[in-house]
Amino acid sequence: MKRYKIASIPGDGIGKEVIPECEKVLKALSKKYSEVTFEFERFDWGGDYYRKHGVMMPEDGLDSLRSKDAILFGSAGDPKIPDHITLWGLRLKICQGFDQYANVRPTRILPGIESPLRNCKSNQLDWVIVRENSEGEYSGLGGRAHQGHPIEVASDMSILTRVGVERIQRYAFKLAQARPRKHITVITKSNAQRHAMVMWDEIAAQIATEFPDVTWDKELVDAATARMVNHPQSLDTIVATNLHADVLSDLAAALAGSLGIAPTGNIDPECRYPSMFEPIHGSAFDIMGKGLANPIGTFWSAVMMLDFLGEKSMGAQLMQAIEKVTADPRLHTRDLGGAAMMSDVTNAVIKEILQ
Ligand code: ATP
Repeated sequence: MKRYKIASIPGDGIGKEVIPECEKVLKALSKKYSEVTFEFERFDWGGDYYRKHGVMMPEDGLDSLRSKDAILFGSAGDPKIPDHITLWGLRLKICQGFDQYANVRPTRILPGIESPLRNCKSNQLDWVIVRENSEGEYSGLGGRAHQGHPIEVASDMSILTRVGVERIQRYAFKLAQARPRKHITVITKSNAQRHAMVMWDEIAAQIATEFPDVTWDKELVDAATARMVNHPQSLDTIVATNLHADVLSDLAAALAGSLGIAPTGNIDPECRYPSMFEPIHGSAFDIMGKGLANPIGTFWSAVMMLDFLGEKSMGAQLMQAIEKVTADPRLHTRDLGGAAMMSDVTNAVIKEILQ
């Protein structure tokens, strides 16, 4: 009997709706696979916690998560609290505190989902974006001075370390090697950013020699946006810095049909700390509390979690159930142009699992 300890952090907005749905789905899976159980502990951190305590999570919050096997995260963001507080006070605190340096974002057009790309067949868009998740443009270094005066100055410093670049590129090349196409595209901007991005390119060429069976190419981030739209089939695994991948992966999610479907994992590949899995969408306060949220992005994140925990057949079974459900337009939520409620989607996924 395997018992996984999962921390669930619904956070804000629709995160509070989709995480409980995901717990239900995982419980249904463990009914089917009786040798595996999940023990969830919920943490009420986020905007409401901030209003009560002045912080998004307690000082010693990371200690409560340390012994967990994985973390399921909903979303952080509250219209009444500045974004940099919600982001740095919770999600980034966990990502950075647990050195989850690889942010992995698979993108596919699932059955039944229409891509805004007119001529793109579903087998022509199958990507994994690997985002450097610990440094780059979001290192947190920088500051402001002379606030409120005409001479006010502000800076955000982007840093790349050799260790940080080597570890993310090695992780991405290894991931590319495990995929059928064995191809990786390294996103860069070394024409304009002539220090750190040049080192990034040099390290890519060095890491590539460790993977002779993986083909690779390099693309400027601006050109990459056009390539994603015009030649999606030319891409497979993509590795990029924090900011570049942040932007590219939102584009990827939109091209795959909806922000509500896309999953992500914040991974510590060395398993020193728990890794964290979450849908890529935000808190979406406009639809919160109405039961309209698409829970598929969270369910797909749970597939990533199961794979990471080594429960591959459970993960495959959940993915199969998800794809059966997306294939049926009657089970599409409003973001996909349908009229289904979140609970219809959850119930259908559970039914598929238990069948
Ligand atoms: P945040 O500020 O926390 O990033 P946001 O509300 O600004 O959140 P997102 O949540 O990323 O931005 O999404 C933008 C819009 O897309 C939402 O306002 C919502 O209408 C729609 N959307 C996002 N996720 C979902 C979902 N899971 N189901 C349905 N619609 C969604």
